[in-house]
Amino acid sequence: MSAYDAVYNQLYNLPTPNTVHFGESGAEIIRPARGFVDGFDLTMQTQVGCPAGCLFCYVPSGSRLTPPAMRGEMGENWGFEVRRKREVLSRFAAHLKADELADKVIYWSGVTDPYASPAAETRAIWELLIAAPVVQRPRRLIVQTRFRPDRDAERIAAYAHSTSPRDNGPAVVVSYSIGTDHDELIRAWERATPLFGQRMKAIESLRRAGIAVIPTLSPFGLWNDLVGALEQFRAWGIPYITHLFFKRDTESANTPSRFISYLDREYPMLLDPHWQREQTRLMQSVYSPSRVLFGKGAFASLAAPQRVA
Ligand code: SF4
Repeated sequence: MSAYDAVYNQLYNLPTPNTVHFGESGAEIIRPARGFVDGFDLTMQTQVGCPAGCLFCYVPSGSRLTPPAMRGEMGENWGFEVRRKREVLSRFAAHLKADELADKVIYWSGVTDPYASPAAETRAIWELLIAAPVVQRPRRLIVQTRFRPDRDAERIAAYAHSTSPRDNGPAVVVSYSIGTDHDELIRAWERATPLFGQRMKAIESLRRAGIAVIPTLSPFGLWNDLVGALEQFRAWGIPYITHLFFKRDTESANTPSRFISYLDREYPMLLDPHWQREQTRLMQSVYSPSRVLFGKGAFASLAAPQRVA
């Protein structure tokens, strides 16, 4: 039994599904960013559900975030039911052409990882953006991922470097999730995501291409060498970091209760406010306190990261 299967079994008392079931959806790919913090205009998702299958993911615990079939009664379907949206590229092109994205801040995406989508699709989205007249381009695209956006580094850079938002911030920001440097935790908690070394490689490649990256240490797990990772981020010219501890009983985006119970049993320090404060202090020993952002303020900063930087 794999480490992931063992945790899945502890959470749901079920065997892990054998396969990911892919279906289709006619749902819109772009929606107004209702309920988000100020600064975001639109959200974009090219699929419903997320094949990464992170067992801590907050999405299945929010009944309005995803349809019941994607999550199952307990959250047991999350990661194993995915619907790819139809005509993603023609719809995106139509939104661009209709000037609906012009000067907008777009979050791509908090409820399904954009880089868990087919490579041909993300590549084509950047190509459509590159081909769009400057006046039709968004002010900012915030790519939220824990996969390998560096597969598109050349195209993202070509787009970002040919676009000058009127608020003088970057045209593209990659908010890169990297919550632990323990590969065994990544293997146990995330079904299909890159390990730590690959994530560092992704960040490095993006930075070498001149793309703005804000690492988000989220959800914050155990670290062998937290200071070493942050020093590396600084060496890559990353201006600040964000972080989010596992969350229970807060207003939004709570960690699923079954995963919280598992942490209580296996890794109680991750929920301990005293331990969390120590970790924050450690982060602040590398980045100054004003550059270690947390929670809602951290998320809001992505809409205009130049204000922090
Ligand atoms: S990659 Fe993100 S959206 Fe997808 S399951 Fe993991 S935490 Fe959730």
